[in-house]
Amino acid sequence: MDCVFCKIASGEIKGTVVHKTERLVVIKDINPQAPVHLLVIPKKHYSTLLDCADKELLGEMLLVAAKAAKEAGVDESGFRAVVNTNEDGGQTVFHLHMHILGKRPLNGKMG
Ligand code: 5GP
Ligand code: ZN
Repeated sequence: MDCVFCKIASGEIKGTVVHKTERLVVIKDINPQAPVHLLVIPKKHYSTLLDCADKELLGEMLLVAAKAAKEAGVDESGFRAVVNTNEDGGQTVFHLHMHILGKRPLNGKMG
């Protein structure tokens, strides 16, 4: 499948991997929207959040997001974990992923 995150997760193309588990990788976003901008990516392909019913995997994504946020030093200052879904959600890469944003005030609006 021609999917950039499948390729990064498998190592076929390079990503800045900052954390790895058996089922997930955490990479730096190539176009960061904040000083800390990480992506938690399952190695297995799910197009969107709507396509994944794996409770353990979804739980692990949040646990790993918290761990990566700590490692990136944004646990005390704070961060945001976001899963953009489909068009109105602003999803551009159709492989499930969670953004972790921090090291600047993420002010105000949710959208
Ligand atoms: P979405 O808009 O789907 O929620 O987020 C996709 C994110 O993936 C964007 O923030 C974009 O900058 C990032 N991205 C797209 N292609 C690549 C890539 O090849 N490498 C990395 N590290 N990030 C990517
Ligand atoms: Zn994929």
